Amino acid sequence: MVSAEEPFLRIEGVSKSFGTFQAVKDVTLTVGKGEIFSLLGGSGCGKTTLLRMLAGFEEPTAGRIFLDGRDLAGVPPWDRPIHMMFQSYAIFPHMTVEANVAYGLKHEHGMDKAARAERVAAMLDLVQLTDFAKRKSHQISGGQRQRVALARALARQPKLLLLDEPLAALDKKLREHTQFELMSIQQRTGVTFIVVTHDQEEAMTLSDRIAVMDRGEVKQVGSPTDIYEYPVSRFVAGFIGSVNAFEATVLGHDGPHLRLEVPALGGAVLARDPLGVVVGQKIGLAVRPEKIRISKDRPEGVNVVAGQVKDLAYFGKDSLYRIAMPGGALVQAHAVNSSRGDEGVGVADWDDAVWLSFDPSAAIVLVD
Ligand code: ATP
Repeated sequence: MVSAEEPFLRIEGVSKSFGTFQAVKDVTLTVGKGEIFSLLGGSGCGKTTLLRMLAGFEEPTAGRIFLDGRDLAGVPPWDRPIHMMFQSYAIFPHMTVEANVAYGLKHEHGMDKAARAERVAAMLDLVQLTDFAKRKSHQISGGQRQRVALARALARQPKLLLLDEPLAALDKKLREHTQFELMSIQQRTGVTFIVVTHDQEEAMTLSDRIAVMDRGEVKQVGSPTDIYEYPVSRFVAGFIGSVNAFEATVLGHDGPHLRLEVPALGGAVLARDPLGVVVGQKIGLAVRPEKIRISKDRPEGVNVVAGQVKDLAYFGKDSLYRIAMPGGALVQAHAVNSSRGDEGVGVADWDDAVWLSFDPSAAIVLVD
């Protein structure tokens, strides 16, 4: 009997070694029913190995995996209500779209021909390929092939669908479009998706929650907003999006904030208090480029520092500035080009003396 608190998928202290090399280290995670959960990390961080253990292609060296309250230890892949969609899609070129989807039901014993045809038709409808049912795989586009693989995977009505870099084979524009399609299909079927990706934007767009991995370990689990706005370590802050990172020392508390000495910024600044840090502690300070305001006139308030524009890149709708601090550090600031102004687009030009400012709430203290 599954208790109300029992998560749908529970990964408990799972490790995997290949000889003396530990590819996955003591991973503990839970995934809720109907979630899109991403495993995000660079090449070789162990995300595919973790996925393969869920599918049953690899046995954990230590730890246990429970799906819907059932311990999966020793359960072979074909007896797990889990389907894995591979990067290559593994679509059969000699078969029609329809036959490829029906192939997923080959081992569904007790399903008669009519029920099978009905399921295939429903899946083709779900991925909007009904009109392409009779085409062979070389007669359809890359995006459509991806949808055939998805329809085939979902035809068996798995409880859990594992997607290994599902969008890697698509070009950028198609990838963006397909991300939304995947989300819509997931919402309509309610199947729990676990997605492996090394692409942070993809993980941010697709996922309800993300586990950021590094060298076999899970470094942080959270919603895309949590991961971006509240990274817990230098690694996660640097891995997701771009960030200005400084070394700092805790000077003390100041109301709800921490006061820090940041030599690279030439003095003291206020930052969000992560609680638990002590006076004198050396920590990291991270500020996202889009949280830094640039102005010609000195603004009111706290966290105001002077600098000089060393470099700027104009992207049309916005510009990225590199501002030199008196101590020599370069700070990146991203500004939207919302007004044209009389003296050119953007808030400042090369070599301009400017003021940078940021809210204490945008200054993230990193202990790790
Ligand atoms: P990528 O994004 O490059 O696919 P990944 O995060 O999915 O990377 P894994 O495929 O899980 O990484 O591999 C993690 C580590 O384990 C790598 O260093 C890899 O070389 C090693 N590894 C994976 N499978 C085996 C195996 N069967 N035998 C030995 N080492 C392996």
